[in-house]
Parts: sequence; C-alpha cells; structure tokens
Amino acid sequence: MAQEKQIAWDLYHSYQNFKEKSLTNRRFKHSDIVPLIEQLQNKKNFKVNKVGKSVEGRDIYLISMGSGKTKVFLWSQMHGDEPTATAALLDMFNFFSDDSAFPELKNLILSNLSIYIIPMVNPDGAEEFQRRNIVEIDLNRDVLRQQTPEAKILKEVFDRLKADFGFNLHDQGRDYSAGNSFNPASISFLAPSPDYEKSLTAPREKAMKLIGNMVTVLNEFIPGHIAKYSDDYEPRAFGDNFTKWGTATILLESGGWRGDREKQFLRKINYISILSALNSIASGGYANTDISVYESIPQNEKFMMDLILRNLKITRDNMEYVIDIGINYDEVNVDEAKDFYLKAAIEDVGDLSVFAGYEEFDLSGYTIEPGKTKPVAYHSLNELEKINPAQLYRDGYTNVALNNTDFKGEFTYLPFNIILNQKSFGESKIKPEESANFIIKKDGEVRFILVNGFLIDISMVESWNCNSIVYGK
Ligand SMILES: [Zn+2]
Repeated sequence: MAQEKQIAWDLYHSYQNFKEKSLTNRRFKHSDIVPLIEQLQNKKNFKVNKVGKSVEGRDIYLISMGSGKTKVFLWSQMHGDEPTATAALLDMFNFFSDDSAFPELKNLILSNLSIYIIPMVNPDGAEEFQRRNIVEIDLNRDVLRQQTPEAKILKEVFDRLKADFGFNLHDQGRDYSAGNSFNPASISFLAPSPDYEKSLTAPREKAMKLIGNMVTVLNEFIPGHIAKYSDDYEPRAFGDNFTKWGTATILLESGGWRGDREKQFLRKINYISILSALNSIASGGYANTDISVYESIPQNEKFMMDLILRNLKITRDNMEYVIDIGINYDEVNVDEAKDFYLKAAIEDVGDLSVFAGYEEFDLSGYTIEPGKTKPVAYHSLNELEKINPAQLYRDGYTNVALNNTDFKGEFTYLPFNIILNQKSFGESKIKPEESANFIIKKDGEVRFILVNGFLIDISMVESWNCNSIVYGK
C-alpha cells in the first residue's frame, strides 16, 4: 500500500503536465473532445473506434489501450450534465500519450490490462447540459428496454468485452454529505447489488475490495469526504446489471468540494483514482484489501446546502425567534448551455444545526427582514447602472422596478434584482422555496444584504461579483 500511495502522490504532483488544458470548466461539448480523441489514432498506445451514433448523430467513441489479459471497461457521462470523469479520462489519455514519464507504471498497466473507454456516452445530453438524452430518456434506466441508441451501444460493447472490471463514472448532487459529517461527499462509491437481496457475489466482492483500495489511496487527499452510494437494487440501471452479468463494477460519483463549483480539483482526484485503480488491478494488489474497508465507508446523506446563515433574529407578531436559513443555488443554463447563471432559493428555515453549508456565516445579534422593491420605476438599464447600491440597501431595498418592454434577459450582474414591467412582487417571505433577498440589521441599521442568495457587507459593496435576477420574465 505504501508504494501505491507514493505513486498516487507522484500523480498528484505531476498532474499539471498531463491536464488537458483546453477543458477548463464542466460545460465542454462533444465538439470539444472529438479532436482530442481523433488525434489519439496517431499515437502508439491507442486504438480509436467509432461504435455508433447518438440520437442527434454524434459519434460515440471506444478508445482502447494495452494488451493484457485482464479487461477493464470505463464509461463516463451517461448523464449529460455529469462531465467530471470525462475530463479526467482526457487527462489520462495525455498521461498515456507521453512516453517519458512514469514508464514503469505505464508498462505495468499496459502489459497486464486491456483497457476500453467510452468517454461521454450521452453527447446530446452534454450539448444541453442535461441529465437525460435528447428524447428525455435516462440512459441509466434503459438497460432493459434498450430503446436509446446510446444505451444500446453501451450494452453491445459490454456484451462484446465481457470485461473483468467496469467503471461507471458519474457526478452526484452537491447536497450529499459523507455520513452526518459536515463534509460534502466529494467522491462516492458503490459496488452495485446484483439483486434485491443485495447478494455478495464474487464480482461484487471483487468490486468492494478494489473500492476499499481506492478509498485507502484517496484518504491521502480527501479524508472525510468519501461516502458510499445507496446499494438498493435498481433493475433498470447498468451498474446493477453489469454486476449481475459477472463484471466487477465500480460506481464512482463526483460530488461537491468547497470552493470548486467547476470541479477542477475533483477532476484531478478522479484522474488519480482511476490511475491508482488501474495500477492496483494490474499488480493484483487490490485483492489484499479486506471488504471491511468498503463496509466502513459512511453512507451518502443529504446534509449539505450552498449557504447557511446562522442565529438570525426574526420578529413575527411581536415575538422574537432565532432562526438559521439554508439557501441553495440552482444553475440555469444560458448561451446554448455553454454557461449558466445562479438562482437562489431558500431551502429551509429554523434549527439547521444538523446541516452544513459550503459557506456559512454566524450572524448572532443581527436581525433579518425580507428585502423590498423600491416603489419608483426606472425606464432604462442606463438609469439602473447609475443607482448607488449602498444607498439602496440602507433604505432596505434589494430590488428595483423597471418599466421597459424591450428589456431582455433573465439575470444581470447588477448588485440588485429587477422587477420587470410592474409584475406584482409583493414583499417576499422568509420561508422555504422563496427567493433569497433579505436585509440584515444591527442596532436598527442595515449591515448586510442578501441579493439572490449572495451576502454583501454594505461597507464593501464593490466586492459584488455575482448575478442577480430579473423577476417577471
Ligand atoms: Zn449519473
């Protein structure tokens, strides 16, 4: 194990040399990765094949490496908005393209394993940055009916390979925590059940040992941030069936990491995880791991929120209460799903002491009130840009009214929200599912403001770098 950990650290420190630098965020498309895959054809370690087309006609590729007798099949992004592992696989192709670095590790892997990879199983979903494919079918619930070309391709390749190991690479929600810790579940694993009884078959046990090995390595980098996905049997899912059909299948889910919405750190962790796993399969080292390591991984729980404001005083009917407020940001796709803006909503109010925030602020001694809309309508964006936000906030306003039928857009980067064309916008309420626009006072004066879920200290208004919302579209 000591040697495996050392190799993982070497991979960690040399990552920048192999990172595919053209991929910088999560919203890359099929057209961004095709040239990177095509150029592998000229490299000696790779074979590149097209194995079919998506509903919208995008090519799906199978890339293979190595000549060993143990077969390993990896596939990513069955869900179009789950791209973290796809980027890590492209980083890994760069790693295997370079002959000079890690020659012993590469030789061990390529001589003992035959590796087959489908990056981006769902390119049409990736185009829209949505989970399902373009006809709204979840590919990971289509293994039985096989209605989609993408699921058919995955099943055909699986049947042809009958691989010893399978890696089912996904992303999971940011709201998952590692057990009831205050840590996001940054990587979650599962050795899927082959049946409703959750039988411990030989392939499943092999998967558990390998996961235990991967967790031991990852504990070097992200201790306390690893969890285990629910092992309830899902007869429509690929991983469960692949286990049933004899392949030791590993589900790997990339979750959240503080300060890493674009998951570039978790992409690096994916790269290290996958290469470490290949190393361990090639050496056979994983087989020495006891399945108790797998069994002791904490469950995925849902105790994370994007932002928690704690210990605020609120007055209702002359009674004072102390509340915490939890807020989540929804990503809304724009610019042909190449970009997004954030839309905040209150997730929960009350005693949130069992939850943790990606960001948290203790506001003991402060009072909270709903943000209001300034009761004077403006007529142009030009006028809005001249507003002094600090003054607006001090008067208790988080929103302004704009009467302009030509105005387009669902959001702006102005530090206040826009209520368009006198759409009714009664005072917002501080309760779940409402928008998150508040004023926060101490000694009767506004000290902080929350606009679209982003906290601003009103003495530092110029630090605003978020988006606000246009209501009434
Ligand atoms: Zn998924």
